[in-house]
Formats: sequence, C-alpha cells, structure tokens
Amino acid sequence: MQGLGLLVIMFFFGLGGALIARAKGNPVGIWFGIAFLVPVAGLIAAVFSRAAVDEPRRLCENCGKVLPISDTLCTGCGMDLEYPEQQLMSRRDELGGRRG
Ligand SMILES: [Zn+2]
Repeated sequence: MQGLGLLVIMFFFGLGGALIARAKGNPVGIWFGIAFLVPVAGLIAAVFSRAAVDEPRRLCENCGKVLPISDTLCTGCGMDLEYPEQQLMSRRDELGGRRG
C-alpha cells in the first residue's frame, strides 16, 4: 500500500496549491494539478505565483471586453490583439490598494 500513501501526500499538496491559488484569485483547478503532479516545487510555485488581481488589464478595441494584458486573443469576440499602447490599472489598484 505504499503507492496509496504517496497518492494521499500528493493529494494534500494539490489541496494546498488549490487553497493558495484561491486566496490569490488564480485558477484553482490548474494549481491543484500543478501541486499534485509536482508536489514540492508545485506548491512553492503556487506561493510565489503572481496574483491575478495584480495583473494589468486591457480593453478590447472591438467589443470593449476587459482582458488580462497578456492575452493576445479576445475571449469575447475572438479578435487578434496587438500589445496595447494604453493599459488599464490592475484590479487590485482599482479596489483602492487593498494589499494583503
Ligand atoms: Zn473583443
């Protein structure tokens, strides 16, 4: 039953990664997977990952949807996007500097 013990440990690492991701507003499922498959390094990566609320955003010129600045394809209308000249402030800045 050694394999099962390892699986339980991996599950708890995954859970830890998911909880950290949730606290930061990052995708929970993805971080569960990373921390589950790469137990120690994945959890460390989750801790040091950039919180989604800190990421600058942009406005789609075609449909006006607000997107993460790193997106090159609009999820609203499917238009290819150039790197914007003007970027919106991050969600965290918009909330008034509620830094945690
Ligand atoms: Zn669009």
